[in-house]
Amino acid sequence: MKLRFCGGAGEVTGSCHHFTVGATRFIVDCGLFQGGRGVYERNRTAWPFAVDQLQFVVLTHAHLDHSGLLPRLCREGFMGPIYTTPATRDLLAVMLRDSAHLQQAEAERNRRRGRPFAVIYDLEDVERTLERLQTVDYREEFSPAPEVRARLLDAGHILGSGIAELWLQEAERRVKVVVSGDLGQPGRPILQDPEPVQDADVLLLESTYGDRNHRSLEATLTELVGALRHALLEKHGNVIIPAFAVGRTQELLYCLNDLVASGTLPPLQVFLDSPMAQEVTRITARHFELFDSAAQAAVQHKPPPARRLHVTFTETVQESMALNRISAGAVIIAASGMCDGGRIRHHLRQHLPNPRATVLITGFQAAGTLGRQLVDGAPEVRLFGEVVPVRAEILTLGGFSAHADQTALLAWVAGFTTPPGQVYLVHGEPRGSEALALALQQRGLAVTVAQEQDEVML
Ligand SMILES: [Zn+2]
Repeated sequence: MKLRFCGGAGEVTGSCHHFTVGATRFIVDCGLFQGGRGVYERNRTAWPFAVDQLQFVVLTHAHLDHSGLLPRLCREGFMGPIYTTPATRDLLAVMLRDSAHLQQAEAERNRRRGRPFAVIYDLEDVERTLERLQTVDYREEFSPAPEVRARLLDAGHILGSGIAELWLQEAERRVKVVVSGDLGQPGRPILQDPEPVQDADVLLLESTYGDRNHRSLEATLTELVGALRHALLEKHGNVIIPAFAVGRTQELLYCLNDLVASGTLPPLQVFLDSPMAQEVTRITARHFELFDSAAQAAVQHKPPPARRLHVTFTETVQESMALNRISAGAVIIAASGMCDGGRIRHHLRQHLPNPRATVLITGFQAAGTLGRQLVDGAPEVRLFGEVVPVRAEILTLGGFSAHADQTALLAWVAGFTTPPGQVYLVHGEPRGSEALALALQQRGLAVTVAQEQDEVML
């Protein structure tokens, strides 16, 4: 039995783990490489395995860095089933189509500049991929090959996210492998906490925040309330929130709803100005069964009208532009989260020159993005070919994260009834993985930081 790390090792994108068990070959996740040098080539180079020998795929969750190369796999002839949860299937339809659209748009832009740009896949490949999806509920056991039994547990990271438990058998040898996928931070709004696992001979553990702890949700909400009161009631301006369409937007809406229902905030006027975020919010609402008990109670409890959050979904471009006429008292949530595309750029052009406006940053901003420039305090930025002065207040809220921090990762591993025999750390920058490796070794575990293309015997 063999395992090869084909991506998401030594870095946080491109997750892909290839297993060989007797005659069976399969992968867990098939992620897109995002950001960094050489990413164009990396998403297009040949796989380190034969696509036509792959029998099936297990997909942990819908984020593109885990799912974004599935359409390429299907384009290259993969015909087997892709096992995942129903909620992940629903999200994938939105996210993979969006990914194909973005590539097409980028190809257009490059063509106009006379530069060649090959899309990795198109909408047809995405539709072909969606047809391959086979859904399994959490804790429902399935046997995709005679040598493999598997099931998914709730990872609490985004809607539908799973931890993969794999029971592998080759002749007399049995090995249980657990792939953590991305794990959520316990106590976050809406979703359940990551499910505990009994045991594993081999554990593949994510390590995104292996060296850090997050601020508590409570402290973050106090900051959010302070920022909104100051911006709306004292400065009488608008609040612009660049938001990630999947997860963060729904968390924000949920928290705002809660704060208004409890009377902590006055009834706010919120505009959700992102078609993709609206679609994902609708999908989230449809999966009520996945909510934690607090979120289920909140949905069932209708506060009196004076304590209700007013959320408007702006559908058309005209409706989006009409928001420009509101000069005070509005909270506008728009994508993209790092301000490098989408409707948020129009709102920033309108609001950045205005000292009464506030821009609230709620997520990680990668180097080189417009969001990062704002966080770094740029006095002016370029938008639509114009220089726009930054006079609006820029505030960063650090406590929202979809990933477990170091304390939560250690606690989850400590929750195993029998400690895992061997741990491979994946999905982390070297700093995060090495710090977590040290902490786990101090607890007596055998730990290796996985490297891309490493092959290990199971
Ligand atoms: Zn993820």
